[in-house]
Amino acid sequence: MSPQPRLTEPSGKAAELYRNLQGGKVQCTACARLCRIGEGQVGLCGVRGVVGGVLYLLVYGRVMTGHIDPIEKKPVVHYKPGSKIFSIATSGCNWLCRYCQNYDISQRRKVEGIAAGPEELVSQAVAHGCEGMAYTYNEPTIFMEYARDVGRAARSAGLFNVFVSNGYGTPELVATMDDFLDCITVDFKGSGETKFVRSYIGIPDAEPVFQTLLEIKRRGRVHVEITDLVVPNVGDSLVAAEKLCRWIYDNLGPDTPIHFLRFHPDYKMTDFPSTPVETLEKHVSVGRRAGLNYVYVGNVPGHRDESSYCPGCGAVLVKRYGYEILEYNLDVQNRCRSCGCKTPIMGPLSRSASEDRFVPVIS
Ligand code: SF4
Repeated sequence: MSPQPRLTEPSGKAAELYRNLQGGKVQCTACARLCRIGEGQVGLCGVRGVVGGVLYLLVYGRVMTGHIDPIEKKPVVHYKPGSKIFSIATSGCNWLCRYCQNYDISQRRKVEGIAAGPEELVSQAVAHGCEGMAYTYNEPTIFMEYARDVGRAARSAGLFNVFVSNGYGTPELVATMDDFLDCITVDFKGSGETKFVRSYIGIPDAEPVFQTLLEIKRRGRVHVEITDLVVPNVGDSLVAAEKLCRWIYDNLGPDTPIHFLRFHPDYKMTDFPSTPVETLEKHVSVGRRAGLNYVYVGNVPGHRDESSYCPGCGAVLVKRYGYEILEYNLDVQNRCRSCGCKTPIMGPLSRSASEDRFVPVIS
């Protein structure tokens, strides 16, 4: 990574998540790195820098990309299934994942992107028939003040907001989520095992991720899903997966969805193979033995564990193929249509999905 040039002019917008320190430095509180940043310098993520003793979010109002995705792609499967969402990202990231599939934007320590204010992004989303906004592809918490302003505008327009986040946050950051965020999928890698995250992500440990989840749970405003990237040979420990699943069961509850994601070689780890499907299936078994009711396989289109099953009778609740919904067997109160068991899936199926070729919602 090339060193950042010294900042001399403010750009973007003054940040809010920081505190001033003695000696002229500031401490950013947007993530658990808690960077201490001197005049003219930027934090590790590359998008928050100090000019005149003020921390600026340098990428405020700049997006690197805007895509229309199904919500299932995030992956989120228990919140407004079948929704179309408008996905945005800036440059930069607070993690240094050696396998990142979006490294061309996330590991770019440059202030780049197309100028787009909050209202403009929301107008684009509405014009394209989207029902929500997603903040994804790079870590959204590093551009929290921008995401929050987009999120507030989105809510005013009747849209919901989804974060795809590594969860490496702070209590101040979580408090900022309160008035705009509806859903977050928090991504573990290698089940958060310390040896893995030190070697392949560049963080000391995953403890802040657990603390972020506890704080989100305590505040009780945001729907949570968990993912765990299973990396062959170095991040596929079943012991670590069991520990993670037990923690989720004890602290977030048995109805919390967890997705075990298949790794694909990319960036600095192209010499690794894709995760064998059998390895993912062993992780699914571990999750179910830990008592979790909704354990999924991700990035394996057509696998039976992409679908949701009723914990009461075992019937298919939602049948999926990749990001598509093939069957939707919940009533309008989100109960299993076979046995009447109440489920935590927050339907109904999106109108944009049901108008297409999906099975209509039946009450
Ligand atoms: S958001 Fe960026 S500047 Fe702030 S603490 Fe994290 S890495 Fe450092």
